[in-house]
Amino acid sequence: MLTLTYEYKAKPTKEQIKLIEHILDVCRKVWNFALRERKDWLNSRKCPVNACSITSEYIIPADAPYPNYNTQAKALTQAKKQYPELKTVNAQVLQQVLRKLETAFIDMKRKGMGFPRFKNRYRMRSYVYPQLGEGQILRGNQIKLPQIGWMEYVKSRDIPDGFTVKQVRVVRKASGYFLMFTLECNVNVPDTFPAGYAVGLDLGLDKFAATSDGTLVERPRFLTQLHGKLKLLQRRLKNKKKGSSNRHKLNRKIARLHQRISDTRKDWHFKLAHKLCDDTGMIFVEDIDFRVWAKGMFCKHTLDAGFGQFVSILQWVCWKRGVYFAKVDKDYTSQVCPQCDTHTGKKELKDRVHSCPECGYMTHRDVAAAQVIRNRGINALGRSVVENACGDGLTGTGDSLVKSQRSKKKGGEAR
Ligand SMILES: [Zn+2]
Repeated sequence: MLTLTYEYKAKPTKEQIKLIEHILDVCRKVWNFALRERKDWLNSRKCPVNACSITSEYIIPADAPYPNYNTQAKALTQAKKQYPELKTVNAQVLQQVLRKLETAFIDMKRKGMGFPRFKNRYRMRSYVYPQLGEGQILRGNQIKLPQIGWMEYVKSRDIPDGFTVKQVRVVRKASGYFLMFTLECNVNVPDTFPAGYAVGLDLGLDKFAATSDGTLVERPRFLTQLHGKLKLLQRRLKNKKKGSSNRHKLNRKIARLHQRISDTRKDWHFKLAHKLCDDTGMIFVEDIDFRVWAKGMFCKHTLDAGFGQFVSILQWVCWKRGVYFAKVDKDYTSQVCPQCDTHTGKKELKDRVHSCPECGYMTHRDVAAAQVIRNRGINALGRSVVENACGDGLTGTGDSLVKSQRSKKKGGEAR
């Protein structure tokens, strides 16, 4: 089973926009209510039984069960009798809101993400139709959505053969409304076979990326410029009165800029990924959890560079272009010599050059790391790297690196 997400710009009519906004509004109320319920329950369990909290008091019986998805979904059905507004929105859409909340709580525990937040009208930006109606749902450049009916969209690309639309998410962005189609295909797609020229890729903060061929990819300058502009606008925000229409306008402007930045970045990521796939058979990257980076000292830089997004885009482009993609162990990639496997010790951030005391190999530090990554990837595939007396940078003869002349060189003592 293969799932893809395609994004299209929607062209809703005025009535449809009104309806979408209404649905978002009800979804937001359901989210906030359900979150309040969970928060109250959790808070009420924090206070010791024999003492009353001075700051807050929650009258929730001790045997009341924790409001999870099931109880909340049941309560939602009950609440419809009392609040007719809830009936104005498709039941499944509202259930999805509760499900999303459940996931948010699970993610918090498992992945260490933040506590789910209450949403104001700017923060509730999307909702999903988990199931589309029976029968024909696509017709020309229109899609039939429950409750909304036929809606036009810009058909920027065709849905690939064999795929069906499983879900549709309606998203409000600064530049209008969008539809994200989740497409599913019931055919098993064969995994890409590892073969051809291998490239290792090291992602970094100084340079965006380095390949084992010695190519260094600079961070895109245009993003820095756009970020400067963003800062300027955000500084202006504090002079505007809360709730004023000027503040609202400025906020809209900031939102549009945010979107432009994220679109530009994504576009650049795709272009880079395609470029890397040219003339390449296999790509290896480090298996890094970029969320940890984003929390640590590299915080801002990591977020702007969007490494996590880039890696998933690269994985997708590789799959599409028939290039083998794999992640390798990330440990000590910057501390090992790609030529002789000697542990050369920790490099400071300012040390830009890898210079091996054992074999005298010298190259840019990120390139060295990329070469280590490539070697590890190839080794993981059960092939070994050919000893190359002339140094590593023999581009063009790359295939010789992969050909399985099994030189038993790889030693375990290196790490
Ligand atoms: Zn060496």
